[in-house]
Amino acid sequence: MGRRQCARLKILNARAPRCSATAKHTGQPCRNRAMVNGKCWAHGGKTPRGDGRWHRPVWPKGNAPDAAEKLNRKLQTLEQRAKKREHRIARMSSKDRAGYDRWKATHAPTSKAKRAAAREHERQARQALADLLSLAPTRSSGVQALYDELAAAQAHLRALDRQDELAEAWTDGIGVFG
Ligand SMILES: [Zn+2]
Repeated sequence: MGRRQCARLKILNARAPRCSATAKHTGQPCRNRAMVNGKCWAHGGKTPRGDGRWHRPVWPKGNAPDAAEKLNRKLQTLEQRAKKREHRIARMSSKDRAGYDRWKATHAPTSKAKRAAAREHERQARQALADLLSLAPTRSSGVQALYDELAAAQAHLRALDRQDELAEAWTDGIGVFG
């Protein structure tokens, strides 16, 4: 490459759009040259967005020249991950396993709307329970028995909340695919 060509390339490179991702090690915007999708070679793999899409594997496009190779690599990676996960679960203590199962149950990948509806339903149920328990303390024996049951249910819910907090703390750093 001649000197002029080299200088021209330098100018073109300086003018080229920059990657809009945030670099993990600096926390600053990544300054690499961007590809057509607005991200650099390192950040270019966009996570699919939208309900029920982000947690699914992204398969290579069938018309890519190295589609079979990519597919094999993808399958191998997924298999390795599954094995790692199995291995990790097998090594867990029963307490850790209970926390993990509970975390899985409360973090099932589903649509945003369904998650929001479930949260709202739970919030209303908890409110109803709290309202019932705050009623005037003059009770017949039958009502007292019911009251005791409800209070026990509320205590159980609080215990589960604490377990959830423990599970959250425990799963920190494992990632969404744990
Ligand atoms: Zn980048």
